[in-house]
Amino acid sequence: MKRLLVLALAATSLFAHAQTYPGSKPISIVVPFAAGGPTDRVARDLAEAMRKAMGGSANFVVENVNGAGGTIGATKVAKANPDGHTLLLFHIGMAATPALYRKLQYKPLEDFEYLGLVNEVPMTLIGKPQLPANTYRDFENYIKANSGKLNIAHAGLGSASHLCGLMWQSAINAKEAMTTIPFGGTGPAMNALVGGQVDLMCDQTTNTTGQIEAGRVKAFAVTTAKPLSKHKLLKDYPSLQEMGLKGFDLTIWHGLYAPKGTPPAVLAQLNTALKVALKDADFMKKQDGLGAVVVTDKRMEPAAHKAFVAGEIAKLKPVIDAAKQFAD
Ligand code: ASP
Repeated sequence: MKRLLVLALAATSLFAHAQTYPGSKPISIVVPFAAGGPTDRVARDLAEAMRKAMGGSANFVVENVNGAGGTIGATKVAKANPDGHTLLLFHIGMAATPALYRKLQYKPLEDFEYLGLVNEVPMTLIGKPQLPANTYRDFENYIKANSGKLNIAHAGLGSASHLCGLMWQSAINAKEAMTTIPFGGTGPAMNALVGGQVDLMCDQTTNTTGQIEAGRVKAFAVTTAKPLSKHKLLKDYPSLQEMGLKGFDLTIWHGLYAPKGTPPAVLAQLNTALKVALKDADFMKKQDGLGAVVVTDKRMEPAAHKAFVAGEIAKLKPVIDAAKQFAD
């Protein structure tokens, strides 16, 4: 009898939660990188689309908790109150960091509720405008000729830019060639690149297209297996695979997460809002212009999103292990 009463009370509170959620309390989307970078950009556009999807009354805020390749922000969300008011937007780092950190404060597949995959974004290999090279071939030769003198920016161990740089250095066997300079995100790293304080970087098109178009950085290649033939600006850049880097194929993805234990009714509400947001015309247009592809397949659903990330963890481990010698 007592048990029944407890169950009934739990069900009532679940229902009450779903009825009142989100209420007037803001929903914070934690971005584990600095403001002004690609993850931040996706989060801000997504927050707006989700606000609309929830009838315009939900109050979304983006919170930048950067450091340690995204792991500080991810830890914060893993440990947050699971009430649907703290979410995490993280990228491929969710799957890359387990292979790069000896001790993570969270378990990617156990400490989060999966809400759905958001987008997939190619990367570009870019350099400061003063670099003498204008083609990928010249760029690679320049890197090799200046071994030990150059530096490459990234957003911390396990970040997308770090992963891309590792894979690339490993593919061209440029072991001694570069010093890595970590930033809290590729937003500030981009400023350093434009200012000529660092020499090169690999970053998502969501952060690089505007700078490439304005001539503030030089682009040399894209990281997808094939060139981005449909993109009006990036279509002219070769893929690294075309340039002889066998099997090089890197696409960054972003997903939305909540802390483990968030009530199922709240998760369902958030997933519904996410799916509506992913079809929002403004959101899709913005993402398309930046070279990102919004997810339309079943990975919008929690179970498929989680299965995808589990697959990525397994896929990245051997790639990272092979390239790890290039990490510092
Ligand atoms: N693009 C960054 C990375 O390399 C993250 C960011 O600043 O959004 O992971």
